[in-house]
Amino acid sequence: MQPKIHSLSLNRNPRQRGKNILTGLFLSLLMLMIFFVGPFVTTGSSVATGSSVVTDSSVVTDSSVAGDKSLASHPPENILIVSIDALHPKALGPKSSPHIYALMEKGVYTLKGQSTDPPLTLISHSAMFSGLSPLENGKTGNAWRPGQETIQGKTIFQSPKRAGFSTGYFYSKEKLGFLINEDIDIHGLSKDFAGDRAAAFFQFPGKHFCFLHISGLDQAGPAEGWLSPGYLEELFFIDDALKPLIALIQKKTKYLIIITSDHGGHGKIHGSEHPEDSQIPLVMISDSYDLTAYQDRPYKVSQLKPLLDTLLME
Ligand SMILES: [Zn+2]
Repeated sequence: MQPKIHSLSLNRNPRQRGKNILTGLFLSLLMLMIFFVGPFVTTGSSVATGSSVVTDSSVVTDSSVAGDKSLASHPPENILIVSIDALHPKALGPKSSPHIYALMEKGVYTLKGQSTDPPLTLISHSAMFSGLSPLENGKTGNAWRPGQETIQGKTIFQSPKRAGFSTGYFYSKEKLGFLINEDIDIHGLSKDFAGDRAAAFFQFPGKHFCFLHISGLDQAGPAEGWLSPGYLEELFFIDDALKPLIALIQKKTKYLIIITSDHGGHGKIHGSEHPEDSQIPLVMISDSYDLTAYQDRPYKVSQLKPLLDTLLME
């Protein structure tokens, strides 16, 4: 996406600066057209097409979404990303999470997603937001307190902000305040009511891009064990609480809903090198895009930003 934006701005400025030169060249070109009208048109056309193909294919190599873009009937205006903290992909099912499971059946998903190393809440969300690994984005520690420096560089909110979306960020752990930057219009920390604040945000007129972080499993896991009855019961409540928000957005149409997580866990442990600790799901559903290319695709937490950037590129 970035190369495309840069190439557009580079095309405009020289064109203004070179107005006189172009005016001078016009007569010469007119003469050339008289003699080479066929070849001139063909050359110009192939240059334009070639340039556009190069830009698109360089994006497609990374994320394989050309088919999704070409099939887009109407760009989404209501985008919701939900990160359910500590959600192990194996916990998702028709009994433990019937509403998310319904999205999986109608949309696409992978249960093979990978968190960061180490797979911890703030490190993983920083990779999710920045599109960069912990070493690349510099957030290798899992702590943050209000008043400390916040995330540097652009995040997942940049593209939607530029595309005219209102942006909202509602989270339920203080340390996730690290991720607030200038591209977020409205943000709020609420341990128990982040979902309600997200629902209120979608009532505003215009286009909406919202990131919602929900905690609960991150406490049930260490206390009772990942995938334990108590953990699955907590997931059931989270799933039930999400129902009206999902229904609201789907009713508005032109939507993209993504449900994912920051890390898994095993036993009562998380954040270790155990493979279960790194596992995360990615569930996506949209009435705007054909997302079938994403079904069962390998996924890393740092790929959410490029994925969104590509989908938002029109
Ligand atoms: Zn977490």
